[in-house]
Amino acid sequence: MEQQRLRVVVVGAAGRMGREVLRAVCSDPAFELVAAVDRSEIGSSTRELAGHLGPNVLVEEDLAAALDRTKPDVTIEFSHQSVALEHAKWATERNVSFVFGMTGISGAHLAEMEKLCLDSKTPGMYVPNFAIGAVLMMHFAEIAAKWLPDAEIIEFHHDRKEDAPSGTAMLTAEKIGKARTSAPTPLPKPLLKAEGARGGSVSEVPVHSVRLPGLLAHQEVIFGGPGETLTIRHDSLDRASFMQGVKLCAKTVKSLSGLTIGLDKILF
Ligand code: NAD
Repeated sequence: MEQQRLRVVVVGAAGRMGREVLRAVCSDPAFELVAAVDRSEIGSSTRELAGHLGPNVLVEEDLAAALDRTKPDVTIEFSHQSVALEHAKWATERNVSFVFGMTGISGAHLAEMEKLCLDSKTPGMYVPNFAIGAVLMMHFAEIAAKWLPDAEIIEFHHDRKEDAPSGTAMLTAEKIGKARTSAPTPLPKPLLKAEGARGGSVSEVPVHSVRLPGLLAHQEVIFGGPGETLTIRHDSLDRASFMQGVKLCAKTVKSLSGLTIGLDKILF
């Protein structure tokens, strides 16, 4: 018997991540692309956007109308954090699960999204980083922080990234902060010759954000102890690095409850 395919709406379909998601779902028989939504490239065929893969779905602007017409199982969205809450509302009031990848969603909006998911009994996911290697990097950093409380993070992204520090750097710092069993070594007050030279501080972890053309998404977590350092580095070299995680979340989300934040919750 043929297995039921997961009916998917891709939101932000014309963007860099959206096109990669189109390619990923259109080349996996577990998924059926039923609609593509974006506020640009309206009327374009997803076959053109996805490199001649999958069905000839035309990009449309109105997400609510697309959900009403196609009644999908799940939306996968990489658009902009400013519309996350509204799109979560539209999805959950129709009992459609969502997998959100746009970064920078505020804690207050996440709390409201969690309530929407619980009240409607419609599970959703927000994943600041879908790369399996990045999730492992955070996991290893948590282990290291137990023994090496002094850490700094350098994250590197392409020059069109809006938010800084990245969601991954924020989350890594928070995890280090929680996993430490002793306080970081106090440092003398720095004599700053340039504003921001010591980076921003998240959970007492200095975080430095590099933005340059040519980069995609990279991060180093550096721990220092007496006479030793430990560097954990992850590189996303291609947007394809996120797709295994995206597909796993889309397949898993309906079996969860409330709002699940982070890929680690379903990996470990
Ligand atoms: P992009 O600018 O190339 O694409 C965003 C797309 O969303 C555009 O096509 C835009 O027209 C569309 N869009 C914006 N607002 C919309 C709305 N209200 N309705 C419908 N479509 C809308 O950006 P990108 O590089 O694809 O990144 C998108 C987001 O994904 C960013 O927040 C980025 O930080 C995040 N991101 C997350 C991960 C992860 O692993 N979670 C990985 C890479 C990027």
